[in-house]
Amino acid sequence: MLEKMGTINLDSVIEEFEAMTRDAGRVQKETLKRILRENSNSEYLQSLGLAGRTDLESFRACVPIVTHKDLEHYIQRIADGDSAPILTGTPINTISLSSGTTQGKPKYVPFNDELFDTTMQIYQTSFAFRNREYPIEGGKALQFIYSSKQFKTKGGLAAGTATTNLFRSSQYKSTMKAMQSQCCSPDEVIFGPDFHHSLYCHLLCGLLYRDEVQFVSSTFAHSIVHAFRTFEQVWEELCNDIRYGVLTSRIAAPCIRAAMSKLLKPDPALADLIHKKCSGLINWYGLIPELFPNAKYIYGIMTGSMEPYLKKLRHYGGELPLLSADYGASEGWVGANVNPKLSPKSANFAVLPNIGYFEFIPLKECTDMLEAKPVGLTEVKVGQEYEILVTNSAGFYRYRLGDVVKVVSFHNSTPELQFICRRNLLLNINIDKNTEKDLQLAVEAAANLLAEDKREVVDFTSHVDRSKEPGHYVIFWEINGEASDDTLQECCNCLDRSFVDAGYVGSRKVNSIAPLELRVLRGGTFQKILDHYLGLGAAVSQFKTPRYVGPPNDAVLRILCGNVIKSYFSSAF
Ligand code: AMP
Repeated sequence: MLEKMGTINLDSVIEEFEAMTRDAGRVQKETLKRILRENSNSEYLQSLGLAGRTDLESFRACVPIVTHKDLEHYIQRIADGDSAPILTGTPINTISLSSGTTQGKPKYVPFNDELFDTTMQIYQTSFAFRNREYPIEGGKALQFIYSSKQFKTKGGLAAGTATTNLFRSSQYKSTMKAMQSQCCSPDEVIFGPDFHHSLYCHLLCGLLYRDEVQFVSSTFAHSIVHAFRTFEQVWEELCNDIRYGVLTSRIAAPCIRAAMSKLLKPDPALADLIHKKCSGLINWYGLIPELFPNAKYIYGIMTGSMEPYLKKLRHYGGELPLLSADYGASEGWVGANVNPKLSPKSANFAVLPNIGYFEFIPLKECTDMLEAKPVGLTEVKVGQEYEILVTNSAGFYRYRLGDVVKVVSFHNSTPELQFICRRNLLLNINIDKNTEKDLQLAVEAAANLLAEDKREVVDFTSHVDRSKEPGHYVIFWEINGEASDDTLQECCNCLDRSFVDAGYVGSRKVNSIAPLELRVLRGGTFQKILDHYLGLGAAVSQFKTPRYVGPPNDAVLRILCGNVIKSYFSSAF
């Protein structure tokens, strides 16, 4: 029997996905041909001498592997209003801002209808698989989604984060409705001028529709954790608003007040119920199912740099399943999570072979001097790690997304990828090499020591201090509450010992890297960092805490250094 949902037939979404992935090699070839044909008149492809050829050999021979930096001047011309076909055959008229948390400022990225369509395809694919395992019935979603500041570039193109470009689209709304994933907050809240106020109103809308909420979600899991940490602070104010049917006076924006007043009416019974439920919780464990009794799951990206928030998410989520969302970037999508039952730690993404042409640079085989040759989508090997290259209809050709992925299995003939980390080395002084993942594991190990004091790491980042010779690693921690000096000294030693890279351990032993330093931050420091990025045009929906703060990111380093309350040096070596 065909399962129907609004206008989306979920069974046929799955059938199409199965058919396409059974024939991934052929679909890849056709996709590459289509991309090269449709964009053959672009200045970029013309300048590379492809001369209209669309075969794989010519593509590999003529088109170089590039990074965002290589394309920056083309994208800048587009943003400045040059309407010639520069990167794509059809001129680009919208710009996305990627989160850019690593470089310190958002990057410009072209956005077009094809990117929109692939986004919908990815969302529908994972929803079809998700809904088979965890069906939801006509209802609403409590979604912590926010738009970024929107502006016009110098050339008059609309610019905002990729998620903002999506949320603005009427087609996005109708697709979400058909997927029963309609946000329970009105547009005025999603597009509100102040993120803190939007967050408050999302929570309020969720409570007003508490029986209808089918799942709780955000693009990246960080926003869900952030939302419920905020809930802990404002829950009594929320109850008050529900009791009297009036939005708190601190939210002044007339558009939000008007939209919320349409939803609010005095409801003392609901206010009492929520008050009672919150008062009965122990340390907020199981808050989400308590507030939203019909929620089936929590949904959002929980992999990669989101992993450190999983513990807190589990705490708020109680017994609710955590379902990890799909994999992509502002530049384009890669894969959908079609195995929703896997825990977030094992989540993987099946590559959709028709949304782009994908190549993979094997990482183990490359030396510092020479990089291994990229292989095609169907040539990858299970167990091997790769850097991923994307070619798609938004003007990216053999583009380094900057991510390291591992092939864990195949779905038919398309690989299922696990996200490993950003490729950039994070911490490096001399011969040591530590990645985002290494840092994450070290913090996880040390944070376990804090757990004994019933404290937790709210967020963290790192830095290399070279102000004195030899340089040393600095780890910044924000902790909820206070931990004893003894515990923190132990945590500092544990961090130092947990970087097991041979170059690091060797350098520490001979003191060519000085003792690791743990700097503890004042409560609220990472909120200041988030606010700093929002000021630059980033959106909470795409925010990822930078896990390394280096010289191009002076402003964030100043925020960090200005909020240190204690510091410890390792005595582990
Ligand atoms: P943005 O620059 O805001 O477009 O973010 C894109 C980046 O977010 C990707 O290049 C990845 O590093 C990261 N990302 C996106 N999806 C996932 C995912 N499912 N798991 C882990 N990291 C992800």
